Amino acid sequence: MEFEKLQEKLRVGGVVGAGGAGFPSYAKLNKNADTIILNCAECEPLLQPHRRLITVHADQILAGLHLVAETVGAKQVYIGVKKTYSKAIAAIQGEIGKYPEMKIHYLQEVYPMGDEVVLIYECTGRVVRPGGLPIEQGCIVYNVETMYNIYRAAVEDKPVTFKYLTVIGEVTNPITVPVSVGCTFESVVALAGDLTCKDPIYFVGGPMMGSIQPHDGRVTKETNAILVLPQDHPIVMKKRRQTSIDLKRAASICCQCESCTDMCPRHELGHPIDPARFMRSASNEDFQNLNPFLNTFFCSGCGVCEMYACPQDLAPRTLIQAYKNGLRGAGVKAPRVEAASVGEAREFRKVPEARLMARLGLSRYDLPAPLDDELQPETSVRVLLKQHIGAPAIPIVKVGDHVEYRQMIAKPADGLSVGMHASLPGIVTDVTDTFIRIQKQ
Ligand code: SF4
Ligand code: SF4
Repeated sequence: MEFEKLQEKLRVGGVVGAGGAGFPSYAKLNKNADTIILNCAECEPLLQPHRRLITVHADQILAGLHLVAETVGAKQVYIGVKKTYSKAIAAIQGEIGKYPEMKIHYLQEVYPMGDEVVLIYECTGRVVRPGGLPIEQGCIVYNVETMYNIYRAAVEDKPVTFKYLTVIGEVTNPITVPVSVGCTFESVVALAGDLTCKDPIYFVGGPMMGSIQPHDGRVTKETNAILVLPQDHPIVMKKRRQTSIDLKRAASICCQCESCTDMCPRHELGHPIDPARFMRSASNEDFQNLNPFLNTFFCSGCGVCEMYACPQDLAPRTLIQAYKNGLRGAGVKAPRVEAASVGEAREFRKVPEARLMARLGLSRYDLPAPLDDELQPETSVRVLLKQHIGAPAIPIVKVGDHVEYRQMIAKPADGLSVGMHASLPGIVTDVTDTFIRIQKQ
């Protein structure tokens, strides 16, 4: 397929990163890429959409991967998959023979293996510079569901209207399901059987990088899991702490053991982020050397420092993010720096997922969440106009319009943006600056 044609199909079809920040997929396509990597690492503990999706749809996903590689002219393709995903690996092996450019790269069960920068290093040995883009190292990374959506948009002209999610935690039947973009979290949780605790919290997006969301929050193209937890779960309690208290605790009990820095996955790849040094400077209000603050731009937010490494239960990630946001708000830009050499002890400082889950109090939730590949019926959806990095889509329907399933309801804005589509057929009941609501007829 022609490069521009593929770009347009993905832009109009509303394909964005299915998980993470929702970067528009068309904007990642680049003729300078020599390597495409399929991310089947699932990254966060307990999440299961990617391994289950590729087990069922390996034919379309690998065909999409081949199409992308051929279109941009990339000569090598890695499928990064955790070595314990045996069914997914079997499905990949059943298809990979059609594509000589593809290789499977088996990944360890460590966190955060799905971080693009980590995955690129694991597959190719190349280090993306701090704050840099994968394409600077000749790489483009798409995850499994994104690639499935690319195939559907490019080959079948089907836009993105549903999202695969894992629902797990305090439910009787953990499940992985496709659900309509714009449905409520509550309706998705109802698909996983009965609740096993009173008044649960919905932790959306995974235990390490997710956040507490209201039950009537809406599924977007980036939502990949709902972890149902009791109110008093340690992850919930940690999330609810106040940043001002975190800073006071850091000032009083950070012992400068440097465990957070030693285990920081980005630091180990030679990036200058140094949480221990940051904690010392921030808690002492020491602004003589600004580097510990400026280097907060190079934190990925993975949470290893505060959810795993710190023996004092401190919150380097939360404080780093607060400072980073403050600097951004003040118009400060990330400094241009190069990576140092990869840490010699990196291999021994990786975080095993099983140990991570045990430390987070999640081991009892580590259960199969089988895929039910039937799209679940909904009666009403609220489709957000911005579910991606870039400008919100522009509504092209009005209240009272009848829309068909998959009809475009908002067009891409100028610049970085994608289209939005009706995730069910019905009547448009609201059009606002932020969403379009559709009621099924
Ligand atoms: S969250 Fe912590 S461990 Fe992760 S990159 Fe940032 S500083 Fe490093
Ligand atoms: S691991 Fe905790 S106690 Fe040790 S330096 Fe980092 S923040 Fe301080």
